[in-house]
Amino acid sequence: MSRHFDAIIIGTGQAGPSLAARFAAAGMTVAIIERSKFGGTCVNTGCIPTKTLVASAYAAHVARRGAEYGFVGNGDVRVDMKRVKARKDEVSGRSSKAVEEWLRGLKNCTVIQGHARFQSSHTVVVNDEVLQADKVFINVGGRASVPAMPGIHEAPFLTNSSMMDIGFLPEHLVIVGGSYVGLEFAQMYRRFGSEVTIVEKGPRLIGREDEDVSDAVREILEMEGIRIRTDAKCISLAKRDSRIAVGMECDEGPPEVVGTHVLLAVGRTPNTNDLGLDRAGVATDQRGYIIVDDQLQTNVPGIWALGDCNGRGAFTHTSYNDYEIVADNLLDSNHRRVSDRIQAYALFTDPPLGRCGMTDAEIRKSRRPVLATKLPMSGVSRAVEKGETQGFIKISVDAETKHILGAAILGTGGDEVIHVLLDVMYAKAPYTVVQRAMHIHPTVAEYLPTALSKLEPVA
Ligand SMILES: Cc1cc2nc3c(=O)[nH]c(=O)nc-3n(C[C@H](O)[C@H](O)[C@H](O)COP(=O)(O)OP(=O)(O)OC[C@H]3O[C@@H](n4cnc5c(N)ncnc54)[C@H](O)[C@@H]3O)c2cc1C
Repeated sequence: MSRHFDAIIIGTGQAGPSLAARFAAAGMTVAIIERSKFGGTCVNTGCIPTKTLVASAYAAHVARRGAEYGFVGNGDVRVDMKRVKARKDEVSGRSSKAVEEWLRGLKNCTVIQGHARFQSSHTVVVNDEVLQADKVFINVGGRASVPAMPGIHEAPFLTNSSMMDIGFLPEHLVIVGGSYVGLEFAQMYRRFGSEVTIVEKGPRLIGREDEDVSDAVREILEMEGIRIRTDAKCISLAKRDSRIAVGMECDEGPPEVVGTHVLLAVGRTPNTNDLGLDRAGVATDQRGYIIVDDQLQTNVPGIWALGDCNGRGAFTHTSYNDYEIVADNLLDSNHRRVSDRIQAYALFTDPPLGRCGMTDAEIRKSRRPVLATKLPMSGVSRAVEKGETQGFIKISVDAETKHILGAAILGTGGDEVIHVLLDVMYAKAPYTVVQRAMHIHPTVAEYLPTALSKLEPVA
């Protein structure tokens, strides 16, 4: 016996639940399947818990700087990790519960808990139950990559998921991987009071960013006492009594760092290996990402893949945008495409980095005539008033079309202010719209017109 639905959705990440709600509201019968916690990575082990922890770390940091702001605390600021974790669990747990309750309350929607596997292209098995649908949507997300480095099976390590369970302060946290996830954990744990060392195999942190951005972020982290080892080749792990040694081959510095805990933050792997994709005939690339077209359809008619598992984005907002594209195309006969979206994301260190469009390196490759501007945050009056003057604003525009090509705002409020530029990019309007707009004083955003009035040709 099998049950038939109009749509089966596998995974309750950032696309699945909204898709279920849209389909159910349109009168379709939907089965949505989740094998673990409702809400997926963002809600349980990604954005929401990490940004909650970042908030605790920021509060501790500001408290330590109290004297600069004119108040006196009772000396040392120490963090109670049990309470920090409890706050994080509360925020994250509430969010996960809200997703579950929302789904269970939807008319036409059946919620099934268990691991889903394809039996054939339109048949999925969960807990020995056979489900069938004309349309199947895969939203299975990803997990932390665990590379086959020497010692990986002997020495204990943490990932972004297991980090969520620790309610104590590691004495010395060694973070393997100097990209977005690693840097956020590095700064927060340093601010909680751990010694922190970052070991990065590339020549610089956040290697996808421009060099000036990488360098500035490195300086900010080092000023807080985080040790950084770059160009670390042949990284290995080894147990040293109750400690863990992270070995490396570097031109400079000692060949190993010994810490009490190791966090692996070296990228993500899609959850596609245990989904029976071969039985469905769904094609993946060499890294396991499901291959999709511009409207997120796989090579098998009637099967779509959304979110991190399709390799077309690695963010909550890209997964949610995938949902919008699929739902609008199927229900409203729109022609929305992945290629219509503009790259945008943030690194939630303090100060944060807000990014949109192309990097300088990408712009150089495009060989177009460019005007650019770069101004330090120390010139932004709001930043001065807040005592948070690290970083800079840089914007590049096309000299002929006057369209904004890309921007990086590393500075207080950078994660929010970047949207001013992003929306103008979506509007396909010239930068002069922002340059001539009257912005509110005193804000970081008011500095964008100033910055844009200082554009200069790039040689
Ligand atoms: C530490 C960290 C911090 C992050 N911070 C940010 C941030 O600040 N901003 C941002 O935009 N992004 C951030 N991200 C990325 C973001 O979390 C992901 O891009 C986003 O959650 C992807 O959502 P998704 O919809 O693809 O799937 P996921 O959220 O990963 O959900 C997939 C779901 O599918 C379920 N599942 C998998 N296989 C099966 C199966 N066979 N059967 C049933 N269920 C299954 C899983 O249990 C999971 O619940 C962060 C990620 C990490 C790791």
